[in-house]
Amino acid sequence: MKFFVSFLLLTLFIYSAEAQLYSPSEFLGYESGEDFTPYHRVTDYVHHVAETAENVILVEYGHTYEGRVLQYLILSSADNLANLENIRTANLQLTGLLEGTPTEGIPALVWLSYNVHGNESVSTEAALEVIHTLASGTDPDVSAWLENTVVIIDPCLNPDGRDRYVHFYHRTRGRHPNVVEEAREHAEPWPGGRTNHYYFDLNRDWAWGTQMETRQRLQHYNRWMPHVHVDFHEQSVNSPYYFAPAAVPYHKYITPWQRELQDLMGANHARYFDQEGWLFFTRQVFDLFYPGYGDTWPTFNGAIGMTYEQAGSGRAGLGIITAEGDTLTLADRIEHHYTTSLSTIEVAANERDRIVDQFTQYFRNSVADATGAHAAYLIRRAGQEDQVHTISNHLDLLGITYGFAATTGRENGFAYHTGAREELQVEPGDLVVPAAQPKGVLARVLFEPEPELEDSLTYDITAWALPYVYGVEAYALDREVTWETIAPVPAASAHPSEPVAYIAEWKSFEDARLLADLLQRGVKVRYAEVPFEVNQQSYDEGTLIMTRGGAGAAFDSLVIQSARRTKQQVDAVTTTRVTEGVDFGSGDVVFIRAPRVAIVAGTPISPYSLGQLWHFFDEQLEYSATLVDSDDFGDLPLFRYDVIILPSGSYSDILDERRLEEVRDWIREGGRLIALERAAAFLADKDGFGLKRKSDDENDADSLNTEIQSYADRDRHEITQDIPGAIFRTELDTTHPLAFGYPRDYFTLKVNPRAFSWLEDGWNVGVLKENSLVSGFAGTQALEPLEQSLILGMESIGRGEVIYFADNPIFRGFYYHGRLLLANAVFLAGQRSVATF
Ligand SMILES: [Zn+2]
Repeated sequence: MKFFVSFLLLTLFIYSAEAQLYSPSEFLGYESGEDFTPYHRVTDYVHHVAETAENVILVEYGHTYEGRVLQYLILSSADNLANLENIRTANLQLTGLLEGTPTEGIPALVWLSYNVHGNESVSTEAALEVIHTLASGTDPDVSAWLENTVVIIDPCLNPDGRDRYVHFYHRTRGRHPNVVEEAREHAEPWPGGRTNHYYFDLNRDWAWGTQMETRQRLQHYNRWMPHVHVDFHEQSVNSPYYFAPAAVPYHKYITPWQRELQDLMGANHARYFDQEGWLFFTRQVFDLFYPGYGDTWPTFNGAIGMTYEQAGSGRAGLGIITAEGDTLTLADRIEHHYTTSLSTIEVAANERDRIVDQFTQYFRNSVADATGAHAAYLIRRAGQEDQVHTISNHLDLLGITYGFAATTGRENGFAYHTGAREELQVEPGDLVVPAAQPKGVLARVLFEPEPELEDSLTYDITAWALPYVYGVEAYALDREVTWETIAPVPAASAHPSEPVAYIAEWKSFEDARLLADLLQRGVKVRYAEVPFEVNQQSYDEGTLIMTRGGAGAAFDSLVIQSARRTKQQVDAVTTTRVTEGVDFGSGDVVFIRAPRVAIVAGTPISPYSLGQLWHFFDEQLEYSATLVDSDDFGDLPLFRYDVIILPSGSYSDILDERRLEEVRDWIREGGRLIALERAAAFLADKDGFGLKRKSDDENDADSLNTEIQSYADRDRHEITQDIPGAIFRTELDTTHPLAFGYPRDYFTLKVNPRAFSWLEDGWNVGVLKENSLVSGFAGTQALEPLEQSLILGMESIGRGEVIYFADNPIFRGFYYHGRLLLANAVFLAGQRSVATF
């Protein structure tokens, strides 16, 4: 407490000396820790500091989905700020991301990120105090640190989530905060404030940039490439404080220096905590492996990336009684994060020379001494143009260098889709990502077929290789091939005027975007259930056909506008006489009725699963879907919808016996129900539904009886039955509309060990067979029930269908490979029965 009290006295002193700059409490009108600051007041204070203090620059870097501004402050000495653009440029030159000779002796760049989880609300309050201390320029120690550092402070990475929490708290608290844990101010309502607008966890999104907050932040991160990055969090009320060094597993590309500086940081924080008698823990729980975090992503970008966790979060309010009977207050929480913030800057200032040297060395090694097993990664372009385009956008966002093969040649490497070493023919235009490049570590982390785990007890998924995420034919090559930075431009096909029909391929999720756009413009679209050939051109199952017959005068312009907007190619034909396959008037060319889609939302649905669907329809597919609150679902007139989607969640209240029977009646009349993960598990073994859970009782019995488990090994024993996140080869029936546009194999990301049997009376469209684990960790006992299990199935009930997804096809919004499966379920599957009754 002493530390903090003296700090408050100090700020009062500054105030009298320098009348312009207010402390947060003077500006906001309450003492630090007495209330939560709504985000617009955070912005007001940040503006006040930027306008008043000499050594501060404010950067607005974007907006959230709900329109709140994203911003950071740059704080340093006056000399450094006067030289800021040189420092930034020199730093990028040190990495090799920018050409030129860097000026020597740049300061250490420290980036502090606060409140990525909206309800871990102490972070922003602490950030305001840190900003004030750095901006006031009255503590000689701090001023000396700022000679050696440039500090970038983002006071809130997730303003939408933070305001959701703060407004909840203000609404529910009484005149005085209630510290009793069962008081409603400690129980956030669904969906809680942790996530952003679309209920995405922004601290899983760094490697993917599915959310606009992340994308805008990454652009600025890449402009700065900081040397130290800290992500401030909160954990449970009864876990005092966590700081570096992190827990194992560390990813194998993490360097000894990165480990050493984590130790130095932790030692300095511990010194301050011991002075005050504050408890903390290190080296447990928070590992450095999955690249989507605010500690790992910076680590794979050469920085010392760390997570600090304060006791508190959305349960803590302004004060709460802990298990030990003490009261944890917001003021305490602020003090702890404030202390580690300043301690981090102190270490960075003291170690500045080594930090800059080691950072430089990191990037030299990335280029000159790439230690991975592969020299380059190659993604086939032919037939995967949309995927290559989408992947190159992703690589641009991450700042990874890539190019396109310049010549043909024979190479050897690991083929992701077959899982074997192969000889391959490189074709001009294939996408090439060299391993030796400034961002080579990040590239290797994202492309290595099998990330190497030091320890299987990890916090997150253990497989994410981009070729599986995007489901592309790709190779990890033994040697680099020549490439150039310019992509070959495909020849534009001239359209005949007034063709009789337009044809569009069905090979990628981008093709589904075209279909969504066409349907919403009112264009009539059909799909071919069998391959065909017309105009000497052959087309696969699923190909979209738009015919002129019966269409209005705007037909051509509507189709062409759609194609332009979604950047998709449509072929124009002057005859519908096919030379192979069936004619366009055949029953095998199925009319697509634009589905009216409803999604069940609200408690107790998983906010993540719902949010990913919401984001999928709004932002990725751009097709309208209606979110219906679970409380209202019982009264929903089902017949107004063609497709109802059940996100993962708990359904025993939403679908009681009566409502389930009504849903079944709606299916019989032609409705299509899509059930994901736990929703599928809810329908399993219910009357009238064909899905069955695979019994795994035998396995449980085995594990209980064969050996006595020691208490100390309990975590390790549990993980033998679990799958934290691994990729499995799923065999598809590509003749079924649910699998149109796919090669034979779909790589499903499995995040739980649940297993379903193959349907006895239905279409087993995606199944696991033997030895289907492709990448990542899966517990030995979890594997056996998965053999011969169902991943994607469809059964008919009357004129309608139920579609079961055992896994999440759009995991965290980044799992591109499954998006088209979901689009098939929404647009193609079941249209035949609708069209023919
Ligand atoms: Zn957190």
